[in-house]
Amino acid sequence: MAAITFIGLGHMGGPMAGNLVKAGHKVTVFDLSKEAVQALVSEGAETAATAHEAVKGAACVITMLPAGQHVEAVYLGDDGLLASLPEGTLVIDSSTIAAETARTVAEVAATRNIPFLDAPVSGGVGGAKAGTLTFICGGTDDTFNRARPILEDMGKNIFHAGPSGAGQVAKICNNMLLAILMSGTSEALALGVKNGLDPAVLSEIMKQSSGGNWALNVYNPWPGVMEGVPAANNYDGGFLVNLMNKDLGLAFDNAVKNHAPIPMGSLARNLFELHAGQGNGALDFSSIQRLYNPE
Ligand code: NAD
Repeated sequence: MAAITFIGLGHMGGPMAGNLVKAGHKVTVFDLSKEAVQALVSEGAETAATAHEAVKGAACVITMLPAGQHVEAVYLGDDGLLASLPEGTLVIDSSTIAAETARTVAEVAATRNIPFLDAPVSGGVGGAKAGTLTFICGGTDDTFNRARPILEDMGKNIFHAGPSGAGQVAKICNNMLLAILMSGTSEALALGVKNGLDPAVLSEIMKQSSGGNWALNVYNPWPGVMEGVPAANNYDGGFLVNLMNKDLGLAFDNAVKNHAPIPMGSLARNLFELHAGQGNGALDFSSIQRLYNPE
């Protein structure tokens, strides 16, 4: 079992760190929120007054922070952790951030012989709690192989997408496709219902036909068609519109930098921005259905 320091104990990081404690690792935690730290201490983690103190003696440091600027603040600069971590310390960042930022942090880490893995996740808060997250990793083979047993204590599917930044690229590709599938599914359901079809019957037909897709098959956005999904609960919980917008923004910025045309992704981004602007940012992203049938 490893000495692991976990920084960023929010909706995702809290339960992820908790699973490392349950797996028997010696876990030290740090967060700007004292309540978040206290919750993990009550589960058996240790803590320290600062991030620099928290990483002392760690074989592995994991971060789960809101966005790129937080990751840069924690790792880079004279005050950043990379300036003081011992050579060979394994560093894993599971935040969803721009691939460029991940590559920059990895490059600075490499100059100090610190292996760095970008390892964003899919699976949401439910997956973080259940320990069934999908990790999508970017880094060298050696770094990935060292990280894998630790990631397996928090997740079920562990993918190596390629070199540094590749995990972040694969993550935004997936979430852009998910946004397109969810808005397309909502649109098709709304068209059918406008024509008098039963949304449950139409869903079943499309599931068994060529329109079948993840949004339709396991996350139906039309209320009353499927049990146990956010649509059955006023779109409460799940994966928030605001987080989908963050990921669509990362996909859009990346596409502009790489001259990659993303007309469908851009349209989906506009739809989700419009939806968020109408006060729906804190709902699950399948609430995009309401944009098509506001009544
Ligand atoms: P969150 O806002 O709930 O948690 C972030 C935590 O980081 C907070 O507790 C905050 O206090 C802490 N923090 C911020 N700056 C810090 C610093 N300098 N030092 C120490 N702690 C600091 O966010 P979340 O929902 O847990 O998401 C974390 C990351 O995971 C994001 O990049 C998000 O895009 C990604 N993600 C989230 C979900 C989801 O469903 N919530 C799903 C997949 C991926």
